[in-house]
Amino acid sequence: MSKEEIKAAFISLGCDKNRVDTEEIMGALQEHRISITGRMDEASVIVVNTCSFIGEARSEAVETILEAAQFKKAGKCRLLVATGCMAQMYKEELLREVPEIDLVVGISSYPRLPGLIKKALNHKFRVCIHGTHAEDKLTPQKRIITTPSYSVYVKIAEGCSNRCNYCVIPGLRGDFREKPMVSVFNETKKLVQDGAREINLIAQDTTFYGIPENGKSRLPELLQLLSKIKELKWIRVLYAHPSHLDDRVINTISKNPRVCSYIDLPLQHVNTEILKSMGRFYSKKDIINTFKKIKEAGLTLRTTFMVGFPGEKEEHFRELVSFIKKYPFGRMGAFTYSPEKGTPAFYYRYKVPHKIKIKRWEHLMKTQRKISYIINQKERGKIYPVMIESRVTSESGYQYRGRTPLQAPEVDGCTYFTSPYYYRHGDMVDVMVTHCSAYDLYGRTL
Ligand code: SF4
Repeated sequence: MSKEEIKAAFISLGCDKNRVDTEEIMGALQEHRISITGRMDEASVIVVNTCSFIGEARSEAVETILEAAQFKKAGKCRLLVATGCMAQMYKEELLREVPEIDLVVGISSYPRLPGLIKKALNHKFRVCIHGTHAEDKLTPQKRIITTPSYSVYVKIAEGCSNRCNYCVIPGLRGDFREKPMVSVFNETKKLVQDGAREINLIAQDTTFYGIPENGKSRLPELLQLLSKIKELKWIRVLYAHPSHLDDRVINTISKNPRVCSYIDLPLQHVNTEILKSMGRFYSKKDIINTFKKIKEAGLTLRTTFMVGFPGEKEEHFRELVSFIKKYPFGRMGAFTYSPEKGTPAFYYRYKVPHKIKIKRWEHLMKTQRKISYIINQKERGKIYPVMIESRVTSESGYQYRGRTPLQAPEVDGCTYFTSPYYYRHGDMVDVMVTHCSAYDLYGRTL
């Protein structure tokens, strides 16, 4: 390829951890004078960062790759690259099955990607490369932020050592390995200098931070350290794990004014037997204790449940439904069990029929909708700082959409409000809640 400019376009699928990977790959390419474009039709390279968490995610990844391949026929695209969990999981198979793909690059080989792209553009070849997890340097790279600059994710660790019996992630991303605290601090400081006011801390299990070396979570120290960054307004903890959430973490979140009084704690189920067969070693009694501590600390609790796990009988499901009625969650998501090859649960007997899984999912979400509405009703009259994400002009002034510190990006509801005053995206303004729906709040400025 002549010295003409190499332009790369990206499609990032899956979770926010994968999004951070995309942002780091973009930064690495730019450091190697490969420019990033948002236009697929002008890209010489298209990178699809895939997800492989469940079957549906893989179908979406293949569909997206085939759509991107159209630009090899119609556009300037000369190289189609697959990265991410599906590339890690299927390696050569993906290269064989999808001839449109030129490079399949596993999670641990991202540092080699810029050089490989240049080589493949000059000497046309198809290859799949995979390193070991020991190779992936977890020092902060230059990132090209793909979320609004005022609200970003910071990945504090890679991999997971919990090995739940239904989950492919430990097999794909390896055991838990954390970023040094000073690296997380420097990365966050840089992001705040670049305009971030909200930081969402992510990992497969954020509460496991520090445990491998210290035997106890060092998340409290990390939160205290990050809250020293003056311009940073909101620090949010996502993906906590019930087995590693101790009182110090709860206290730090509730006492530190820069840390959102919010915690995301996927529980997956409440029946102790089901939890055991999932490979999640906490009991219903533990959940109730933790729930009470979180409520006493005044935190908003988000959780996620899985329905239809092998062996889940109707009474186990009813137990889950009555649990969320008795112990209401401010925020709740749910998904149906998806059998994943290579996980222990894949070989379990007593599979729940798909129809039943869907019926249970619908019933659980419907129940939560009513609970969420009742909880939101209690927000009327309260005043919250709202971070503005969008603005439309109206006859009487402006209509805004934003989030309070108790609403996480992408997964929770939003706050809509009107104001005669003009504000920019990322500004924070006090809003009085006047009414609500099941998931969203409505209000006005003071
Ligand atoms: S905690 Fe369990 S479900 Fe979550 S990433 Fe780790 S193994 Fe998977």
